[in-house]
Amino acid sequence: MNRKTEDLDWSNLPFGYVKTDFNIRYFYRNGKWDEGELFSDENISIHMAAPCIHYGQEAFEGMKAFETKVGRVVVFRPEENARRLQKTCERIFIPEISEKMFLEAVKRVVSANKKFVPPYGTGASLYIRPLVIGVGPKVGLGPAEEYIFLIFVTPVGPYYKGGLSPVNALIVTDFDRAAPHGVGDCKVGGNYAAGLAGAQYGKKKGYPVVLHLDPKENNYIDEFSTSNFIAIKDNTYITPSSESILKSITNDSLSIIAEQKGMTVEKRNVEVKELSGFDEVGAVGTAAVVTPVNLIHYNGTDYTFGNGEEAGPVIKSLYNELTGIQKGDVEDRNNWLFEI
Ligand SMILES: *Cc1c(COP(=O)(O)O)cnc(C)c1O
Repeated sequence: MNRKTEDLDWSNLPFGYVKTDFNIRYFYRNGKWDEGELFSDENISIHMAAPCIHYGQEAFEGMKAFETKVGRVVVFRPEENARRLQKTCERIFIPEISEKMFLEAVKRVVSANKKFVPPYGTGASLYIRPLVIGVGPKVGLGPAEEYIFLIFVTPVGPYYKGGLSPVNALIVTDFDRAAPHGVGDCKVGGNYAAGLAGAQYGKKKGYPVVLHLDPKENNYIDEFSTSNFIAIKDNTYITPSSESILKSITNDSLSIIAEQKGMTVEKRNVEVKELSGFDEVGAVGTAAVVTPVNLIHYNGTDYTFGNGEEAGPVIKSLYNELTGIQKGDVEDRNNWLFEI
């Protein structure tokens, strides 16, 4: 591959923003989407009365591209992100973005920035961030008449430099991220503003991640602020089924791998009191794949998992399998890699 980015220190990139050459933008005007165009400008100019900045009519997605050993550039399951974005858009009255348009946009923007796809073996990847915003002037509450669908990409470093590092989590019940029948199951910006209070509270108390319970009864486990909850008990993979959680594509993929390894997969209500019986717990999402959770603090009790120092064997093996597929080292038997 033709790279002119030797100055990038791939293995030490943070999970942050690094400028690339292009982003792609599609405009929706007069009831239809245009053909899309590549831009080099990193800024967007929108009307100060745009509904996205007042009323939060905004949706986003996140996925990653990888280079494999033989130099293919692949994106992990973007069709699933396309479907999830459609569901989110429908919920907040954003006009439909077809799967075809979404995948074409991903292909065009990754191709245009191919030199920023980190080399195989560095552990780094190209993070892909699609977003859609309601624009044009509007003062009263109502859906916008015009929209921008934009995708930018940015190379991000390996989440774990030396093996999976476990974290401690805190269950917060004073601040909910979602409401019953709200938009907790959609990837909309407002959920994250709502989640900031809990996350900052956790950080102040020394917990890097916080876990939310169901907003109705405060009795069932929902999810971490930006990742799903999984637990391993004997040969069973357990993950909450709830109306107020964002369905993680990483969680879905790990549960399929678990099933194919002969484990039982349970997607069901998970009561807080079950925490005392779990062998391993993880927080799962695109950024880290799995963050092992060593300890969860709730109401004066510390629930601990594993030996307290490293990830448990099941989470480790699920992690290795999924990241192996993404890098092309493990056979892609479920057809999860989308070729650029
Ligand atoms: C994005 C996100 C996840 C993880 O989803 P993936 O598809 O695995 O990246 C989990 N929870 C929330 C709240 C999220 O926003």
